[in-house]
Amino acid sequence: MCQLALGNTRAASLNLRKSPMRWLNAPPRYSASSKIARRGFCSHCGKALSFELLDSERMDLPVGSLDEPGQLKPTEHVGAGSRVERWFRDDGLPQTRIDENSAIQQRWRDADGIAVMPGLQAVLLGDRVMDWLPVKWVHRIAAAVFAVLGVLVLAGFGS
Ligand SMILES: [Zn+2]
Repeated sequence: MCQLALGNTRAASLNLRKSPMRWLNAPPRYSASSKIARRGFCSHCGKALSFELLDSERMDLPVGSLDEPGQLKPTEHVGAGSRVERWFRDDGLPQTRIDENSAIQQRWRDADGIAVMPGLQAVLLGDRVMDWLPVKWVHRIAAAVFAVLGVLVLAGFGS
């Protein structure tokens, strides 16, 4: 679950299959968190209760919402590419990045029709721009600008 949803620097989630899961009380109130996923919230207090990709057979539950969260043991860090480094302690568990998850990237491409997903837009936009940008000329112009600036500095311009 993302920082924006929970306002924290990390989230401990239990990932499980949706099919055997059932809500004992009122089912969550769902809200689309993006085109490919939804989050469930308690209809009484608004607490986040679930996260699921729409076409996935699996879902996440916040570990803190379970009766005995201490019975679970962490197995991996997901979303390592967007974590807040200052709050991270390497415990040796495997780490994965969302931007390296081809299945999620494909979901975004299918949903948007273009190869973008949150957090990657700038990189992918850069790739697209590079397709039509005359890079050689950009480099030549930049080199010329720096050469002129260098000459001006050496000539004592502005002093
Ligand atoms: Zn509640």
